[in-house]
Amino acid sequence: GPAGIFVNRSLALGKIRCFGFDMDYTLAAYKSPAYEALAFELLLERLVCIGYPHEILRYTYDPAFPTRGLVFDALYGNLLKVDAHGNVLLGAHGFTFLSEAEIWSFYPSKFIQRDDLQRFHVLNTLFNLPETYLYACLVDFFSGCSRYTNCDTGYQHGNLFMSFRSLFQDVTEAMNNIHQSGCLKEKTLENLEKYVEKDARIPVLLGKMKEVGKVFLATNSSYDYTDAIMTYLFGVSEAAAPARPWRSFFDLIVVDTQKPRFFAEGTVLRQVNTDSGKLRVGTYTGPHQHCAVYSGGSSDVVCELLGVRGKDILYIGDHIFGDILKSKKRQGWRTCLVVPELSWELDIWAREKERLERLKRLDTCLADLYQHMDGSSRGLQVISSTKTEIQMPHESVVEQERASLATTACPLPCSQTSLLIKSCLSSPT
Ligand SMILES: [Mg+2]
Repeated sequence: GPAGIFVNRSLALGKIRCFGFDMDYTLAAYKSPAYEALAFELLLERLVCIGYPHEILRYTYDPAFPTRGLVFDALYGNLLKVDAHGNVLLGAHGFTFLSEAEIWSFYPSKFIQRDDLQRFHVLNTLFNLPETYLYACLVDFFSGCSRYTNCDTGYQHGNLFMSFRSLFQDVTEAMNNIHQSGCLKEKTLENLEKYVEKDARIPVLLGKMKEVGKVFLATNSSYDYTDAIMTYLFGVSEAAAPARPWRSFFDLIVVDTQKPRFFAEGTVLRQVNTDSGKLRVGTYTGPHQHCAVYSGGSSDVVCELLGVRGKDILYIGDHIFGDILKSKKRQGWRTCLVVPELSWELDIWAREKERLERLKRLDTCLADLYQHMDGSSRGLQVISSTKTEIQMPHESVVEQERASLATTACPLPCSQTSLLIKSCLSSPT
């Protein structure tokens, strides 16, 4: 698709002395929908493990249903699409979309208090997609199952009450479990071709960046997993080219970063023994050793070890909160947000451009026509009524980003966050 970089603030790339990268969903693009489907299956298995009925295993992941940035209402079990201000645009209970009247009755003024974090949960990242779909499946299942009685805030089953809130907690626990137990990583590594996009241009890009500045990796993943993914990404595809170890592309590698904490107080900095993958005990206090791998630490440590200031760094990540807002707000880093959906949205925009322009022309014609008829403002009304029905894809994206910015309870305006399409890393040659 078309590549693009959206710049909210001018940035002299020549002044960037250091490029930082997140790994998951930034350098390592997980293949959609195969990866989400895998996570979804593991989530279902986990839920059955903790006592959910076996029947839920019949659901399979449908990539057409969930989208990033939806809100789960843990009180009523609805999935909501809200705008930048908290106005409810769409709602679904299971797979049933709420009527206008239902939305009004659930949400007075069609509005939600998004800072009610106990109740409203924003599903911000691509890792959240399978979870988003799972909420719809579970609500669909329990609502239609004759053993359960539908109540306003959950389901009655004999003398047990299962609230939407407890359902939310179980799914959150299952998510943590599949990530922390290592089962998702294990399955991913078993079949890297199936789950991870390999792009030969990544080593080329990083090689070029390293010529003009310093390059570092800061990932929340563990060393073993990072090593396996990066070895795959930087491995040679043609037998002719000599292999260059992935670690040689970086001046500094930090794993287990615990972002967003990494951008605040951080954690103990340890050195990783790259032979055994084990951590060395104690805080690392020596000078930076080339190609060494560290675990934990903080953004201050990165600056110290590399001898750069926050302003010199361009950090590229996919997590609006963990990667972008915190690094910018707390450390003054320059940031670049990877939004893979944008290339798809831009495709639509490009494809429908002619039709949108035709509508615009018709609007103008209508306005002229009405003006000639009676000179009243009816023409303008026609324009505004048509306008509301057309939403350019880029407008909705900006709105979504604003929504997620606002929902992370951070006052940073959208204009300070750079947007980047994933495909710019892999722009057509
Ligand atoms: Mg990431």
